[in-house]
Amino acid sequence: MSNHQPYSFFHSVERSFDKAASFTKWEKGLLEQIKACNSIYSMRFPVKMDDGRIEVIEAYRVQHSQHKSPCKGGIRFSDEVNQDEVMALASLMTYKCAIVNVPFGGGKGGIKINPKKYSVYELEKITRRYTSELVKKNFIGPGIDVPAPDYGTGEREMSWIVDTYASLKPGEIDAAGCVTGKPITQGGVRGRKEATGLGVFFGIREVCNMPDVMAKLGLTTGVVGKTVIVQGLGNVGYHSAKFFREHGSKVIAIAEYEGAIFNSNGLNEEEVFQHRKATGSILNFPGATNIAKSTDALEIECDILIPAALENVINGDNAERVKAKIIGEAANGPLTPEADEIFAKKGVLVVPDMYLNAGGVTVSYFEWLKNLSHVRYGRMEKRFTENLNTHILTQMEELTGKKVSDVERNFILHGPEEVDLVHSGLEESMIAATREIMAIWKENPTIPDMRTAAYVCAINKVGTSYTELGIFP
Ligand code: GLU
Repeated sequence: MSNHQPYSFFHSVERSFDKAASFTKWEKGLLEQIKACNSIYSMRFPVKMDDGRIEVIEAYRVQHSQHKSPCKGGIRFSDEVNQDEVMALASLMTYKCAIVNVPFGGGKGGIKINPKKYSVYELEKITRRYTSELVKKNFIGPGIDVPAPDYGTGEREMSWIVDTYASLKPGEIDAAGCVTGKPITQGGVRGRKEATGLGVFFGIREVCNMPDVMAKLGLTTGVVGKTVIVQGLGNVGYHSAKFFREHGSKVIAIAEYEGAIFNSNGLNEEEVFQHRKATGSILNFPGATNIAKSTDALEIECDILIPAALENVINGDNAERVKAKIIGEAANGPLTPEADEIFAKKGVLVVPDMYLNAGGVTVSYFEWLKNLSHVRYGRMEKRFTENLNTHILTQMEELTGKKVSDVERNFILHGPEEVDLVHSGLEESMIAATREIMAIWKENPTIPDMRTAAYVCAINKVGTSYTELGIFP
């Protein structure tokens, strides 16, 4: 944490919001309404641990905005959870959903525990009790508020949530839509797990494909050959690294809390992941140099830096020493406003969290739609498309007297699977959002940075939505 000033994450979101609000035409009262957290549920409940001890668990769910229903946002398990943090993260969810045109309000939940210190059975009891507390207060449901994974949670926890909810609401036909990020067998959607990392890649690739933006940074267009540093090898960091590597970038350093590793020829995230699993540490990876102090990795020269861990890791203390040309905020809130100002001055492009990491919630939206429609994506059209493509190709081959190769044949005939449709929907959402934000920034060059342009985009959409609801005559 920065030594510069007492840090409030929610206050920092409010600061960014206010900075952007001055570039919009909305009246003060409406801006206040957009900014405020509508409902804050702070709870304490007892859970009996394996050794017979009773522990009082501190937990939260914040609904920032109901301008669209349901509210949407993950649940994190972390020692650092507090009300201020959950409020900030819930606010970011509202803006994030607005930017990528996902019709939800923002929400977020948190349980103040370090999941590594609990047995699986204890975690299950905590998660199920948390869910029943949400049910009691009407803070969860497919049309009310829909949690999802976040830092420290994943498919397993989402399974416990949907099972608890469904058992408390017998006969609710849409119960599976009460939470997203579920395993496929429990109503999950293919493509959700890699969604945030893939969205980060799509967003940065789109920025890198803009010749004018790259020229300003002194970089060539495209992601091929670009050097990338990833902080955090959790779900988001792992998949971001994977997609950059697969598309020709070089991931030269990966940082985790126990240290970081560097290899100028590039690292393979899967091999690093397996090494860490086997040895318990990212350090001593074959062929790579160890960096004892994890945060030093953020200061290595590179084209793209991807902080994919927690908030506030780049701040007034270290921003000056960061040498990356582009910073892609895969985590929520990894930069403080002080860091933002330093980067704006240095001409570093910060691609902001609240849209760049929106891949998770975008695919959550697809999962929720799947749950409400009770049908797998692709089920209705896959065979039809394949039959039609076969027919078209056969006709072309007959008319021309030529045949395409087997590789081409398979590619052309292939009808969409669920994962194809999900990835394509995600790609479209990320490209459209990147272009929209950049267009706002170009239209008004006095906007200081891309984060402010993204906020302007979000505020305009939420403002329009509130106005069209008619509650501000
Ligand atoms: N926790 C993720 C986020 O911060 C995903 C939220 C969701 O899918 O609802 O965006």
